[in-house]
Amino acid sequence: MFKFFKKKRDKTVIKSEIIISGFNITVLKKDIKNLHLNILPPDGKIRVSAPKRMDDSSVRVFIISKLPWIEKHVNSFKERPRETPKEYVSGEGHYFKGEIYLLNVIEYSGKPYIIINNNKNIDFYVKKNADLEEKKKVFLRWQREELAKELFGIFNKWQEIMGVSANEIRIKRMKTKWGTCNIKAKRIWINLELIKKPVYCIEYIVVHELTHLIEINHNKRFKEIMDKFIPLWRNYKKELNGSILQGSKIL
Ligand SMILES: [Zn+2]
Repeated sequence: MFKFFKKKRDKTVIKSEIIISGFNITVLKKDIKNLHLNILPPDGKIRVSAPKRMDDSSVRVFIISKLPWIEKHVNSFKERPRETPKEYVSGEGHYFKGEIYLLNVIEYSGKPYIIINNNKNIDFYVKKNADLEEKKKVFLRWQREELAKELFGIFNKWQEIMGVSANEIRIKRMKTKWGTCNIKAKRIWINLELIKKPVYCIEYIVVHELTHLIEINHNKRFKEIMDKFIPLWRNYKKELNGSILQGSKIL
């Protein structure tokens, strides 16, 4: 319905790097109206998106005005706990729906499988000689299945409540976002990492992405919709943003 107002966008991006106060900053000049500053996970890279017509010295002035903010956020990335690579060995801790479980690797010659045991352990049945890659593959597949089960119920519930529906829902491994929504295609992607988070956080991301089907931008209206459906969303957002993956694009 917005077709009439849409003008063709120039999709070219001019990329450059500048150094200010010891910070390496990537500057992207695009067909946009406002300046955007993002600190990107996992290591706090700094990216500024600027309107094409803006000259470099104005971009510099903007960055300099934001230096205290930049410094604070880049440092917070340094302090943030990093997840160590998993080895899939017994005794290793794994988060699942907000709780930590200890992995219990059990030798098994049949098709590998994983079950939650007594709400304490993740029992991982796998061949004795399975290498790290094989174990990782089985584990990720299990996480994906568990997240899919969870999402099925959550999407059913919220699509009905909100009166919207996505055409396609996919689980993806993403580095910088918990979820994305392609508004035109009504396609929602949910980050596989979310299976490690409490169910209310998964629910918050789903409602956020479904809200985009009503309101494209993160504006006042968007927040009002979120307030109506999920009043504590700001708490969930805080919880997610304080953890390892920080989605700079998530409100
Ligand atoms: Zn959003």
